[in-house]
Amino acid sequence: MLIDLEALCCGSCMNGLRRKVRAHEAALIKHQHDLADYHRAVVGWHAPLIWHEEPIAPAEPRLPHAVYGEPVYCPSCVYDVKAKLSKLDGAACVYLRESDGFRGQTDQAKVSRSDDPGTLSPTIEDLDEMESWLRSWKGAYLGRDTWARSGHLADAITLGVAWLVARAERILAHEGMAQAFGGEVQSWYGRLVRYDPSEVVVERLKGVRCTECGGLTLERKVGEDKVVCRMRDCERVLKLSEYQDLAEEAKQTRKAS
Ligand SMILES: [Zn+2]
Ligand SMILES: [Zn+2]
Repeated sequence: MLIDLEALCCGSCMNGLRRKVRAHEAALIKHQHDLADYHRAVVGWHAPLIWHEEPIAPAEPRLPHAVYGEPVYCPSCVYDVKAKLSKLDGAACVYLRESDGFRGQTDQAKVSRSDDPGTLSPTIEDLDEMESWLRSWKGAYLGRDTWARSGHLADAITLGVAWLVARAERILAHEGMAQAFGGEVQSWYGRLVRYDPSEVVVERLKGVRCTECGGLTLERKVGEDKVVCRMRDCERVLKLSEYQDLAEEAKQTRKAS
């Protein structure tokens, strides 16, 4: 194969090619073993048990066009990682809002409500972890130890994301940092994609029947304040808070019965 695997773009555009190459390598090794078994059987006293004919070598796989890193990622993967990085801020905002189910509550209210840091909500824990991660990359880029967070969690995330977005191309061209940074951005984005306001995620709500048509047909776009019935001839709209009251009632009723 005339592909320099080491020089391929290390982004997701080459995942398919890498998978095919690995599968082919495994097939070649298996063929070697099969061939050895076959020859042992042929020269031995007994006829081959499994192989009636010499095993055929696996065909060369048809590979997609190779895309090389410049020097680590190709331009379109750089764009992809940078776009995902920049979406982390908006996703973090929606995540914070969603954690309570209501808009307008800041992370500060939640943080101050719990005196024991061990009882922080899972959302705050996640975002806290993300914010330290942002700071650790700032530190790595500047070649300095990391420093304490300044300001509120949500503000620190906004600033941290913006700082790294402005330097994303340079980090993603840096041979010592690019691959780890790109991989970690992908993984953070994967954790928060549900809350990315530019991705429409529709949640099917199973807690309550539609107050109009009675179907288990209510759904909500993550981040929106309203719940709608997806039945075409119904299309009932509830406020999120109304839905939450109904869901709470339903839960109590279920408990009582
Ligand atoms: Zn690529
Ligand atoms: Zn309905």
